Parts: sequence; structure tokens; C-alpha cells
Amino acid sequence: MEDCIFCKIAAKEIKADVIFEDDEVIAFNDIYPKYPVHVIVIPKKHIKSAAEAQIDDEKLIGHVMRVGAQLAKDKELSERGFRLLTNVGSDAGQTVHHIHFHVLGGEPLRPL
Ligand code: AMP
Ligand code: ZN
Repeated sequence: MEDCIFCKIAAKEIKADVIFEDDEVIAFNDIYPKYPVHVIVIPKKHIKSAAEAQIDDEKLIGHVMRVGAQLAKDKELSERGFRLLTNVGSDAGQTVHHIHFHVLGGEPLRPL
């Protein structure tokens, strides 16, 4: 989708610090990390948010989440824990309108 920064990262039109990629998914370090580990995982397909995902997207979204969890494991966060979350809409602070999961960890996270 035009003017979507995450589509541009997926298409390699904008550089990112990519740490994992397959046919469906790409993961990169957040440009403004809020925790010692702050990775963004996205489907390459443009979906605006979890609220816009369709039934046909279920497998893809599940894959994005599993990749996020695997990356946290690779960074040895399974024992101490991590957060895997997606923001939806303005009250949640969603600033990029292409569904993405944050993988957060490496220090105690503020309780929700
Ligand atoms: P959200 O507030 O859930 O929409 O999160 C968007 C996240 O994307 C923020 O944590 C930003 O720091 C991050 N972000 C925005 N632009 C880029 C970029 N070009 N490369 C990496 N991360 C980005
Ligand atoms: Zn997009």
C-alpha cells in the first residue's frame, strides 16, 4: 500500500535493521526502542490492524505471533518472559497503520 512505511520496509524501499524474514513475514529492530529488546514483527501483506484482519488472515497472524515468540526465545527471553502485543487505534497509541506485533523484553516490563 502506498505511503505505508511498513509496506516500504517489506518491499526494501526503506532500510530497516532486519533480523528475520520469510515469504510472509519480516521482523526488524524498532527504530526507537523502548526496552533492551524491542522488535517489530509484521506480515508483508498490508492489514491495517487486528481489528481489520479477516478470517483468511488468521493463519498469517498466527504465524506472525509465532515468529515473534521464536525471536524472543532466540534472544533467550523465554525463561524471564517478554511481551508480545499489538496496538489498535488511537487510544492504544497505534501510530503505524499496518498490523505489527511488538516483542518487548530484557528488563521487567511495566504491568498493564
Ligand atoms: P505503534 O505505536 O504500535 O504503531 O508502534 C509503531 C512502532 O514502529 C513504534 O515503536 C516506532 O518506533 C516504530 N517505527 C516507526 N517507524 C519505524 C521504522 N522506519 N523502522 C523501525 N521501527 C519503526
Ligand atoms: Zn502497509
